[in-house]
Amino acid sequence: MNKSEKLFAEALKIIPGGVNSPVRAFKSVSGTPPFIVSAKGCLLTDADGNEYIDYIGSWGPMILGHAHERVTESLIAAVRKGVSFGAPSPAEVELAAEIIKRVPSVEKVRMVNSGTEATMSAIRLARAATRRDIIVKFAGGYHGHADSFLIQAGSGAVTLGIPNSPGVTEGVAKDTRVSGYNDLEAIKTIFAREGQRIAAVIVEPVAGNMGTVPPTDGFLPGLRALCDEYESLLIFDEVMTGFRVAKGGAQELFNIKPDLTTFGKVIGGGLPVGAYGGRNELMSMIAPEGPVYQAGTLSGNPLAMAAGLATLRLLDSAVYEKLEKSSKSLQDGLTKQAESAGIPISAQRIGSMITVFFSQKPVANLADASAADHKRFGKFFTFMLENGVHLPPSGYEAWFVSTAHDETVIGNTIDIAGRAFESLA
Ligand SMILES: *Cc1c(COP(=O)(O)O)cnc(C)c1O
Repeated sequence: MNKSEKLFAEALKIIPGGVNSPVRAFKSVSGTPPFIVSAKGCLLTDADGNEYIDYIGSWGPMILGHAHERVTESLIAAVRKGVSFGAPSPAEVELAAEIIKRVPSVEKVRMVNSGTEATMSAIRLARAATRRDIIVKFAGGYHGHADSFLIQAGSGAVTLGIPNSPGVTEGVAKDTRVSGYNDLEAIKTIFAREGQRIAAVIVEPVAGNMGTVPPTDGFLPGLRALCDEYESLLIFDEVMTGFRVAKGGAQELFNIKPDLTTFGKVIGGGLPVGAYGGRNELMSMIAPEGPVYQAGTLSGNPLAMAAGLATLRLLDSAVYEKLEKSSKSLQDGLTKQAESAGIPISAQRIGSMITVFFSQKPVANLADASAADHKRFGKFFTFMLENGVHLPPSGYEAWFVSTAHDETVIGNTIDIAGRAFESLA
């Protein structure tokens, strides 16, 4: 056994599944996870001294690469001034202002500690504002692990909520509806039936948690129109896409104004942060300004604010242009290599989110994503890992490109992938 394997064996005894978040386990691929001891730029180093080109990017936050000099310096400076006050601090105002400057639909914002807290709080607010109970989500959409969201489609795309985690009560599940991603007709049917009871529709404007699945033309505008018609709120869950796919998130890219937006990942620069925001009139309902209760001992933590601010301030238009260029060359290179090896893939991408589906046709929803060849992905993943490229260990995930992935690194990744595709043929 190497050091990572020993650590994993030890972890299995004292941590459920050996990991603190299920996505880190190698459940859908073979082997056990390398334990990472350090990271710099686009490279991870494990406990045995192996180096990997990283496409996990801490599942989204590390858009500038790991241990970026400016972010690290801001953090060190913040640590020296004390790590938590439990009283307001200036950086909270600065980060809020930075978010509002970039995202026109957000006039007021509340910091929390994770994406899960952000979405959980946003639906509470939506229900309070509309005095309605029902929320609609999409199959394959992930919005954190709060009870209301751990519900998938049963039979057919449109169905009453059936909990798919034990511990979620029927009482909670009955207020969630699940529709099909990129399927406007399905959600129109739901609204026709009970639109007057729907508080909000929550959607990943670019789906990232069933692999990268862009919205089809008309899907997001269709949701906006439907919510307007029935006076329901449209919530964009931009925990993954916020400040990742564009300077102002997916709502800038697709030019749609949601009523509420949730953030996480990039806004914390790698520290635990989430946030939710929207129009002043809605956000004013949050305590202590209004009656909707939501709180957090460590919310707006000075270290998290410092890392988030340092990160956002570096994310100018030039960064997104650079990411677009390098990510496109990765997408094109992977597509070419797969073609020449005779392996059918769909390499799907928006900005620096990318997924290779082993699928003959483009993936537009959860059913398509499930129909991809996940066994084949497992083999591909193992080949890549053994050759120094760490992809997310599941075929249902987005890979993240950072500014630290330069032309050479992208070129090397494409070469290794070429050999991986050939090994599958
Ligand atoms: C990651 C993610 C979440 C949950 O965020 P956590 O910080 O893991 O709680 C919610 N929504 C989306 C779209 C995400 O990608």
